[in-house]
Amino acid sequence: MSARPNSLAARDGAFHFHGYTNALKNEQDGGFVVMRGDGPFIYTEDGKEYFDGLSGLWCSALGFGPQPRLIEAAKRQMETLPFYHTFTQKVAAPAVELAEKLVGLAPVPMSKAYFCNSGSEANDTAIKMIWYFNNALGRPQKKKIISRVKAYHGVTIAAGSLTGLPAIHADFDLPIPGILRTDCPHHYRFGEMGESAADFATRCAENLEKLILAEGPETIAAMFAEPVQGAGGVIIPPETYWAKITPILKKHDILLVADEVICGFGRTGNWWGTQTFGLQPDIITTAKQLSAAQAPIAGILINQRVYEGLRDHSNRLGSFAHGLTYSGHPLSAAIALETLKIYEDLKIVDRARELAPVFQREMRKFADHSLVGEVRHVGLVGAIELVKDKASHESFDPKLTVGPTLVRLAHEHGLIVRPVVDSICFCPPLISTEAQIGDMFARFSRALDDTTAWLKREGHC
Ligand code: PLP
Repeated sequence: MSARPNSLAARDGAFHFHGYTNALKNEQDGGFVVMRGDGPFIYTEDGKEYFDGLSGLWCSALGFGPQPRLIEAAKRQMETLPFYHTFTQKVAAPAVELAEKLVGLAPVPMSKAYFCNSGSEANDTAIKMIWYFNNALGRPQKKKIISRVKAYHGVTIAAGSLTGLPAIHADFDLPIPGILRTDCPHHYRFGEMGESAADFATRCAENLEKLILAEGPETIAAMFAEPVQGAGGVIIPPETYWAKITPILKKHDILLVADEVICGFGRTGNWWGTQTFGLQPDIITTAKQLSAAQAPIAGILINQRVYEGLRDHSNRLGSFAHGLTYSGHPLSAAIALETLKIYEDLKIVDRARELAPVFQREMRKFADHSLVGEVRHVGLVGAIELVKDKASHESFDPKLTVGPTLVRLAHEHGLIVRPVVDSICFCPPLISTEAQIGDMFARFSRALDDTTAWLKREGHC
């Protein structure tokens, strides 16, 4: 399939090199050009409608249609002060207000907010803060960072190193030294035969402590964790997991960074995944739904202890010599502030909590399907994992590309979802209606039927 000559799709193929894309295929086929949006739907150049079941990249909480209040907030800011920066004690008004708002919304006591432009930058910056903090405390050897198998924390050099997905490292010469890897808390995939979820959580915690002791607690600065591992395949930890992990981190004075880039702002049925799963973070990174993805902005929340370390060291050195031209950009901050007001006015968290049972009931309808191994969900995020053998949980040979094939077939039925190998991820906009959630899964059901027929034809099931 190749794009019509001179279409935007063809011009994209000719001129644009994009991320997470097979460049040669894009050059040959042209890009998938999205022209406009309406609620959870997007529309392409040729007018075809798609339900975006992943909220773009787990971020478009308010969907893809124009938001009059955000337009007004952006216009107001552009008319007043389109840019100012945050270096040398300067700041534009919306960044002040947003910092105050975010600290007020924090799920555990937090002291200060710092702004970046993306989740990756936020996690990179958090690593630098942690290194600086330990230098400030006179323990320069306490620098290693723990992350988990299947974690996703971004793609920049340090955040990409935290990411625990081999494809993100391959031939980029990542990870950097000093990143330690601990278990992915996915009971269905990594639990042993007959092991309960609680016992599996105990084993994850014991392995974490073994790792810490083997490396030397005096060398380990922090652990990064997503409350739900999103891009790893929507992995939801066992109920007792955090109650077992937290004391180990505290015992060895290891900071916890909750990466709330996907979970923050209602996704799991609370404002924060930290609340849903009982984390006790010292630092929180957030982005995506912070502005409903309508402006690039990310935030880092730090607690008083971390802040004091950074503050005192910045005073000793003369400055916290880290900053981004667009940190706290007034346009992004104004849009994020208004987004948070919209969330409050729409009672978006209550709404997500009310819609969650509908989303989950629709998902569970697939649980008995012969190809479905696990249906997992929390709030309005979930995944359906396809397997070759339901009893043993045996996966299909990845070379068969079962998940990606289903996603391609779903595309033909006007549904965009994400495969993580054979786990199909769902993360619809928080403003979706019950009927739209039903529509999303009806489209998925047709794709699953097509996938089953294809696998049968090929003799794989
Ligand atoms: N952290 C998590 C949990 C994410 O899911 C992502 C992106 O999907 C990131 C960090 C990186 O964010 P960005 O793509 O804005 O750099």
